[in-house]
Amino acid sequence: MIVVMNSNCTDKEVEGVLERLRELNFRSHLSRGTERTVIGVLGEVYPELQDELEVLSGVAEVVRVSKPYKLVGREFKKEDTLVRVGGLPIGGGQTMVMAGPCSVESEEQIMSTAFAVKGGGATVLRGGAFKPRTSPHAFRGLGIDGLKMLDQAKAATGLPVITEIMDVRDLDIVAQYADILQVGARNMQNFSLLDEVGKPGKPVLLKRGMSNTIQEWLLAAEYILAQGNNQVILCERGVRTFEPATRFTFDVNAIPLVKRLSHLPVVGDPSHGTGKWYLVEPVALASVAAGADGLLIEVHPSPDHALSDGAQSLTFENFNKLMGRLSLIAEAVGRPLLTADNQRSPVGA
Ligand code: PEP
Ligand code: MN
Repeated sequence: MIVVMNSNCTDKEVEGVLERLRELNFRSHLSRGTERTVIGVLGEVYPELQDELEVLSGVAEVVRVSKPYKLVGREFKKEDTLVRVGGLPIGGGQTMVMAGPCSVESEEQIMSTAFAVKGGGATVLRGGAFKPRTSPHAFRGLGIDGLKMLDQAKAATGLPVITEIMDVRDLDIVAQYADILQVGARNMQNFSLLDEVGKPGKPVLLKRGMSNTIQEWLLAAEYILAQGNNQVILCERGVRTFEPATRFTFDVNAIPLVKRLSHLPVVGDPSHGTGKWYLVEPVALASVAAGADGLLIEVHPSPDHALSDGAQSLTFENFNKLMGRLSLIAEAVGRPLLTADNQRSPVGA
């Protein structure tokens, strides 16, 4: 249920509604948009509550929400949410790119990649230190050493970093280094992690689980918002289908659909979505053409020698080519590419 306040309501009236909800043992969530102030009512609402709230001073209307998710939905908040990372916005009409290796492997690897992706126009450096791997015998990341290497690359380039948090026990240390906490596809419904991951106050990138519906994905994001952090970025990274020719099937439909259902920014991950480096560029372009606010792309100095996801990683050269074409598409669809130096769009391929 959502309480929509009169456009000229006073702080006292808003506090009056919040107080009444507290008395009735409901949790609430206040959103003051540019156009309207709304209060989301969380919990098991009953039909009579609508009348009980409608009579309170300053209330314009009380709307029953038809969707199971509330805080992430457009019914609750009409305007796009901007996620702020290192002073730059994600969402809100520009296209941004996060790029870097699947895993941090060495100081030299992350440092050279950081400079390369920055040169190509990325505004956030990615790199996994705690890696979810299908086989326990595969390379599982450098852990805290990897976080420290990311930090060095951040200090050298000025790029904020995104890295995965796999286990709630590592949250403090990962949040100390990460500018964006990534929740991976395999953890999308790790509800105890979702309950905690927003608490350090850092933006969270929530990947869609490989076998999850859009509604399940939005409900997973709802966990984070319900803990008071609305700085959440949704990431489509491909789903499992019957098709074995690609690693996953990138669900391009999900991008415009989720943009319609939710106010949160949405980015595409064409690297995991395809599993093949030569499919990354076309699917990256399609993502942005379809409305994505940004991209998450794997780049490696020597993909053939990568310790994880080499087959889907771009060389520096291919990343630069992609960025040139992306800038044209981004411009064409009216959401120009945001780059680190001066927020201008580089031109041409
Ligand atoms: C990754 O970003 O390297 C990763 C493991 O992604 P996903 O959770 O989408 O598989
Ligand atoms: Mn990867």
